[in-house]
Amino acid sequence: MLMRIGGREVGAGAGGWLDVINPATGEVLDHVPAGGREDVDAAVAAAEQAQEGWAHLTPRGRGKVLFHGAEAIRAVHKDLARTLTQEQGKPLAEAVDEVRGCANVLEFYASVSGCLAGDFIRLGAPGDGVVVREPVGVCGAIIPWNMPVILFGWKAGPALLAGNALVLKPSSTTPLTALAIAGILEKAGLPPGVLNVVTGTGDSAGRAIVAHPGIRKVSFTGSSATAPGVREAAAPFLKEVTLELGGSDPMIVWKDASLAAAVEGAVRGRFYNAGQVCNAVKRIYVHEEIAARFTEELRARVGSLRVGNGLSPSVDMGPLQNPGQLERIEAQVNGLRDRSEGRILIGGSRLAGPEHDRGFFYAPTLVTDVDPGAAVLNEEVFGPVLPIVPVPDLDTAIREANRSRYGLGASVWTRDLGVARAVFDRVGAGVIWVNRHLTVPPELPFGGVKESGIGREVGMQAVSRWTRTKSLFLGW
Ligand code: NAD
Repeated sequence: MLMRIGGREVGAGAGGWLDVINPATGEVLDHVPAGGREDVDAAVAAAEQAQEGWAHLTPRGRGKVLFHGAEAIRAVHKDLARTLTQEQGKPLAEAVDEVRGCANVLEFYASVSGCLAGDFIRLGAPGDGVVVREPVGVCGAIIPWNMPVILFGWKAGPALLAGNALVLKPSSTTPLTALAIAGILEKAGLPPGVLNVVTGTGDSAGRAIVAHPGIRKVSFTGSSATAPGVREAAAPFLKEVTLELGGSDPMIVWKDASLAAAVEGAVRGRFYNAGQVCNAVKRIYVHEEIAARFTEELRARVGSLRVGNGLSPSVDMGPLQNPGQLERIEAQVNGLRDRSEGRILIGGSRLAGPEHDRGFFYAPTLVTDVDPGAAVLNEEVFGPVLPIVPVPDLDTAIREANRSRYGLGASVWTRDLGVARAVFDRVGAGVIWVNRHLTVPPELPFGGVKESGIGREVGMQAVSRWTRTKSLFLGW
């Protein structure tokens, strides 16, 4: 596929082409241009030309375009989902979920387009004050490979509603759905140049976006390891940077929890998208009174998961997205084994056999008898590996939950409102779920504390972050 700049398809320049690999088969699926500085220059120029006209539409006018875009995505959601499964690896049902989720996000921002408001402040004798919100202008958006469609919606929905123009870079390993959706939005009425997609690696296209003086804000979603470099590269231009980063979400299972619901919550929370979700369940703290039963039921359920090519309807979990990711997970589990930091209850290796040999498959893995200092409790494990830690009381559960450099989300599974309230009040995270994990509706702001990032996505708060205020003093 080709890049999309100023409403036109653009091929490769000096950088050449990048292969897009199907992670279930190892086969080359397509090629995209390895974009670089010149492409980002062209995209910024197109965005600058388009942004003013876009911002001059009424918010409801922009909302209408987003609404038509959402409808157009829904109309072809099966095709988009298939492409998503092929480039990313997730099971088709999850891909359909994600594509519909993207349409829902755009529709949510369309639905609030008539409600963008400023403030009116009575200043007394000197006069009155008015505060309006203006778009930032031309902005950059950089997204990772794990949820390329929903994260496209999370960036584009609020940014475009606020009146900005975007230069968006998908991950070099999952660029196809972003390119397809940008084309769909243009056909649905988005003026050319308002949303440009430059493909390429982080080192070339990504760095060029962060360092481009014409881009006034960069919204980055990716790893906590990459983020400081992004912030540093943006600093000389004093541009705003928001960072949505890694997580190591704890799930606290209290002794009165519905065991069936908690087991299903843990399976979905950890093994959805092969565990490659920023806010996946990455550590379980379970009350010791129910720990044995919970662990046994979870082991049986995890043992029944079918792992394979996501295009097959009987598959529950697909491959990891790329070979580097497979090696990282393998190294993390091997390291745990070598350092005797836990016992592998199930899984703990790559999957072999005709269905798995050519793809990047890792077995769903549970770890028990975990050493409190084990790396899997302290690092982000971005794959299907779940440590289970029994705890004697709530204070211990909360203390352990907080013992992390990350603070994206956390969940508590209980029927006791006091327990739920204590977790909500005392666990450091941007979102707390009660009897649920993972779900992020577009109405609720999402983002982390500590090394999980700076800023919030979705919700009305996200629109504010894609604007700046301008004050008016009225001296009557
Ligand atoms: P990554 O940081 O390697 O890459 C993310 C994006 O940044 C890619 O498009 C990449 O090409 C680009 N990039 C890399 N180096 C860059 C640079 N120097 N300058 C500019 N751009 C650069 O992350 P990843 O491995 O693709 O994604 C997985 C990570 O993303 C995990 O840590 C996960 O938790 C996190 N994530 C966070 C959220 C959230 O909302 N908090 C959502 C999804 C994923």
